[in-house]
Amino acid sequence: MNTILISPVPPNLSESCYATFTTPRLPKRRPDPPQCHNCQKYGHTRNYCHHYPRCVKCESEHSTDECTKQPEEPAKCANCSGNHTANYKGCQSLEKILNQTKPKAKAKI
Ligand SMILES: [Zn+2]
Ligand SMILES: [Zn+2]
Ligand SMILES: [Zn+2]
Repeated sequence: MNTILISPVPPNLSESCYATFTTPRLPKRRPDPPQCHNCQKYGHTRNYCHHYPRCVKCESEHSTDECTKQPEEPAKCANCSGNHTANYKGCQSLEKILNQTKPKAKAKI
């Protein structure tokens, strides 16, 4: 039996919309390469690092704990010198690495 809604905005509309848009599975996340917490470079971890410590916030040669950067100062990326912290997932150097390491797509003719 069909129910015709006369009210222009049924009170339960938003709820039912949510139900239809809720997907149980999250989109597949690409695996990020390991990032060193000592020098902020990708591809190795702190335990295997042979570099000088680099700050995640200001790219200077000190460990992040010793950083004296003020919160109002802009962050500087140790990998690309951009205005973000070195662990920013949108960093262009991370993008570059991901593009290098991603499996080869089907060869184009
Ligand atoms: Zn390192
Ligand atoms: Zn710093
Ligand atoms: Zn960056």
